[in-house]
Parts: sequence; C-alpha cells; structure tokens
Amino acid sequence: MVNNNSKVTKSNSNGKSNNNVSGTKEWAGSNVNFIDGCKHDCKYCYAKAATLRHKRKTPATWSDEVIRYDRFNKGFGKRGKTIMFPSVHDIHPDHLSESLDILGRMLVKGNRVLIVSKPHEDCIRAICRRFSKYRDNILFRFTIGSANSFSHSYPGISLDGLYCPS
Ligand code: SF4
Repeated sequence: MVNNNSKVTKSNSNGKSNNNVSGTKEWAGSNVNFIDGCKHDCKYCYAKAATLRHKRKTPATWSDEVIRYDRFNKGFGKRGKTIMFPSVHDIHPDHLSESLDILGRMLVKGNRVLIVSKPHEDCIRAICRRFSKYRDNILFRFTIGSANSFSHSYPGISLDGLYCPS
C-alpha cells in the first residue's frame, strides 16, 4: 500500500527533525501486516510489485487475500514509536474480524497506531466503535488514488457522515 523506499526529509512521527527519514518511517517506527495480497488490486500497487518480486504471489493470485498466521499470532509489547497498520495490504470486510483482533492486541499494550487504508466505511465504523477508548492512540490516514477514474478503481467507497465516536 505504501512505498517504503521513497525518500523524504521531514519531521518523523514523533515530531523531531530527521533528514534521514524515508518512506513509511516518516509516519511510523514499524509496520504490522498479516495478509499477503489485497482485494483492491490497485494498478499502481507497490506492495503487489514487491510481493511478486519475492514470488509469494502471482499477478493472478494477488487479489486472493491469505492470512499469514505466523504474523497474525504474534504478540505485541509496547513499542517506542507509532506502529503503521497495515502497510502492504488493506483492511477489507472479509478480514475485518482478524484486523480488529490484531489491532486490539496492539492498542491494549498502549501503542500508538497509524491506520492506513483505502477505507471501507463498515470497517472504519467498526474500528471506531470497538476502540473508542483508545481514540487518542489512533490516527487514520485514508489514501485515495487512481491511475484512471476514481469510480472505476474504488466502487462503493463512501466517507459521507463518517465520524469517530468519543
Ligand atoms: S489498497 Fe493498497 S495494498 Fe491494496 S492493492 Fe491498493 S495499493 Fe495495494
């Protein structure tokens, strides 16, 4: 979802100036992912290209989301910097329950989590409902982009009326 290699020279997730910060490190100290593949199958997907390079998927199977249980079952401690979740797949309704589970295990330890998604409204509402008491530790970044028309690549996405309950 997010290119790890792009160079930037800005403040990091903790607000400190750092000229060596690059890619996702601008936003978070670490990434958490537990799925190979993504149903959105965006035409410009960095994660798809990287996964194909490592031969974990083919172009034909990229949109078949496969849970990596070695990662899903991993425990979490308190990390010093923000965790980005996810960075190489998305939070799709088909795997919402697992996403809520792993997100909860991060938040309960006091971690700050940056949730990056091409958002499905149902998923974002479920996250807001479940984790309202952790709202100060959650930051959303919603990505919207397309090589062609928005309606072609992201049918059904609507943010109308979205809110995070207090
Ligand atoms: S939503 Fe993100 S991870 Fe999924 S195909 Fe699109 S760019 Fe790739």
